[in-house]
Formats: sequence, structure tokens, C-alpha cells
Amino acid sequence: MPSGKVHETINTGFLVAQAAAWLGGALALPAQGVWSYLAGFALGTYLITPDLDLAERQEPRPLKWWGPLKVLWWPYGMIFKHRGLSHSWVLGPLSRIAYLAILAASAGLLARFDLRALILEHPLEASLFTLGYLLSQWIHLVLDLWTQETPRGGRRKRARKKSSLGI
Ligand SMILES: [Zn+2]
Repeated sequence: MPSGKVHETINTGFLVAQAAAWLGGALALPAQGVWSYLAGFALGTYLITPDLDLAERQEPRPLKWWGPLKVLWWPYGMIFKHRGLSHSWVLGPLSRIAYLAILAASAGLLARFDLRALILEHPLEASLFTLGYLLSQWIHLVLDLWTQETPRGGRRKRARKKSSLGI
């Protein structure tokens, strides 16, 4: 399993590359849309990652950015098994947003905040923000899968075994 630092570094690389591509004119998107996209991507890179499912057992990397508010994620870590639903492609990212929304709603923070109106007024920004968040999560999952499929020497060992049998 890649460490939180590796995940963060790789995602940061993508973040910088995408920002550079836009600055270089490779992406024909309005500035506000790009900032929304990059904000969503940064959110999913530093603050809300799939490894928050380890929140109450270990100190996954994103908790460092949450400071004293990190305790908010302990119940999430208790509910979700590491690399279970929290690491699925769609429900995983949604579970973290839903979890935060429930926390915010129970603290009365959403009472004066009309998310629906915000989305309807700024559909492009809202879509790009969501896309950035999802892509940041998916890069994490791809890296997890990639390292899972190539455990230390696992595949190579099997390949060697095959070749020694002349297959
Ligand atoms: Zn992970």
C-alpha cells in the first residue's frame, strides 16, 4: 500500500501539471471553471481522501491538515473498513461527502446554506469542482490497485516459477 505521502505527492504532481497545462493554454476553460476544478482536486488530494477510513486506527496523511478537527473523522474510520466501500469508485467518494454533509447538518451549519441554488447558479463550476474531486480520488484508487497487483516480488515469483517449469 502506498503511503499517504506517496499518494499526496503523486496527486500534487497531477494538480501542478493540470494547472500548468491550463496556464500554457492547453485547456480551453474559463478561469473560474479551472479554479473550481483545481479546488475540487486539491480537496480530494489533501483533505478528503479514501484513506480516511483509517482515521481512528492510524494517523492517515489528510488528518494532519484537519488539525484538531481530525476527531470528526474517527467515526468514519470506525464505520468503514479499510479499502472496503470507502475505496470504491463512486460510492467511496460520495460516502465522504455525505458523511461531511451529515456532520454539518447536525451541527446546524447547512441551515442557511442553499447548495441547490449554488449549483443551479453555477452549473459549470459545480460540475468541474465535482470532476476534480472525483479524479483526485480515482488516481488514489488506481495507485492502490496498481500496488496491490504487484506485491513485493509476488508476480515476479510466480512468473519465475512458470518459467522454471518451461511454460
Ligand atoms: Zn487507499
